[in-house]
Amino acid sequence: MEEMPRAEIERHQYRLLKALVYKLYSFSPFYHERMKARGVHPDDIRSLADVRKLPFMVKSDLRDNYPDKLFIADQDDVARYHVSSGTTGKPTVVGYTQNDLSNWTLSLARALTSCGLGRGDVIQVSYGYGLFTGGLGLHYGAERIGASVLPTSVGNTERQIELMQDLRATAIACTPSYLLHMGEVAEKMGISIKDDTELRAGILGAEPWTEQMRQRIESWLGIKAYNIYGTSELSGPMFCECTEQKGIHIWGDLALVEVLDPETGETVAPGETGELTITMLQKEAMPMIRYRVGDLSSVDYDPCPCGRTHPRLQRITGRVDDMLIIRGINVFPSQIEHALMAIPEVGEHFQIVVDRKGALDDMLIRIEVRKEAFSDKITDLMLIRRKVEGRLRNALNVAAEVELVEAGSLPRFEGKSKKVVDRRVL
Ligand code: ADP
Ligand code: ZN
Repeated sequence: MEEMPRAEIERHQYRLLKALVYKLYSFSPFYHERMKARGVHPDDIRSLADVRKLPFMVKSDLRDNYPDKLFIADQDDVARYHVSSGTTGKPTVVGYTQNDLSNWTLSLARALTSCGLGRGDVIQVSYGYGLFTGGLGLHYGAERIGASVLPTSVGNTERQIELMQDLRATAIACTPSYLLHMGEVAEKMGISIKDDTELRAGILGAEPWTEQMRQRIESWLGIKAYNIYGTSELSGPMFCECTEQKGIHIWGDLALVEVLDPETGETVAPGETGELTITMLQKEAMPMIRYRVGDLSSVDYDPCPCGRTHPRLQRITGRVDDMLIIRGINVFPSQIEHALMAIPEVGEHFQIVVDRKGALDDMLIRIEVRKEAFSDKITDLMLIRRKVEGRLRNALNVAAEVELVEAGSLPRFEGKSKKVVDRRVL
């Protein structure tokens, strides 16, 4: 399946899509109405490209149909519920049939295998267990490939590090921010993750992070850091980079991905960045057609050097609604991270504080300076500050004020980090 020629994957996708559309038109009042309103009948879907005729779904559709009005499975057939983190508002509920759970597990099993993990590995799962999809998702995926699972969940970081050492964990799944925190706590305990543990892979995701951050994590902790992606509406984390680390394989038999211009809803040119829109081809309890995830990225359809033919999602640069508008200029937190991580004196932690002074937006970036670079001499710090401000102005085209703070003084996060504090009352 993973090395199937693209044309064959697309034929398979078309068959799945066609069957799904008939099913929803017949059994889902929500989709029936939406399709009627858009003047599209299942008979109109005559090729894979016809997916573009179908109506979109957005997050507010899930909120408006809270908790389970979009489910089409009978209550008896719902095997599990999860709830989204609620990063952008009221959390939404998602449901799974047994089949959905098994496809989700399989998707992660394929993902973990593709980044070189399997039997013999000890995988520490430090995503939250419970309503959040990360913990249980990775747990079953890791079990499925025959690895030994260490279900630590989040928190109790010192104990996690002891267990990582004692049980010789070879891989860890968590948010990149939590791994940074673990690295620091380990150092305080006198343990170097690089030299004193068996850890060799990180399965990191659930929040945006940059290539520069990957390089820092890899060289500091002595591991390979793989990007994993998903959202609760897709099932949870589902897709991960392979050992090539050149994009996240989206299994075509499970998901059909489109990249759209967020303003017009039209497909962007191949390779261009836009809003990810995903159709889940096999989900039963809660089908998702053309779901506008809100994340921004691009997709590469070229075959991967690993041999897998499934398209590769490039790094997610943020969410459509992550974008800060500072004095009329669009700024993404990932652009800031990208610029900062290229400066050796800057540590891994920063915070963006946006405020309004009079009629003007004001952006303050608080940055931890590396211990080695932190100096008692005001002039040294002033030089670093000026350098950082210059780099940011070049990268963002808008001035940001920079405050240098001591290493360890900004908040740390166990799950998704909150890098932006927006104090503007709009
Ligand atoms: P919520 O939308 O409430 O945070 P989820 O817990 O389902 O709900 O989180 C999914 C979101 O997390 C994605 O839409 C995306 O914005 C973010 N995310 C997940 N994995 C990644 C990743 N690898 N890179 C960037 N963002 C990610
Ligand atoms: Zn690959």
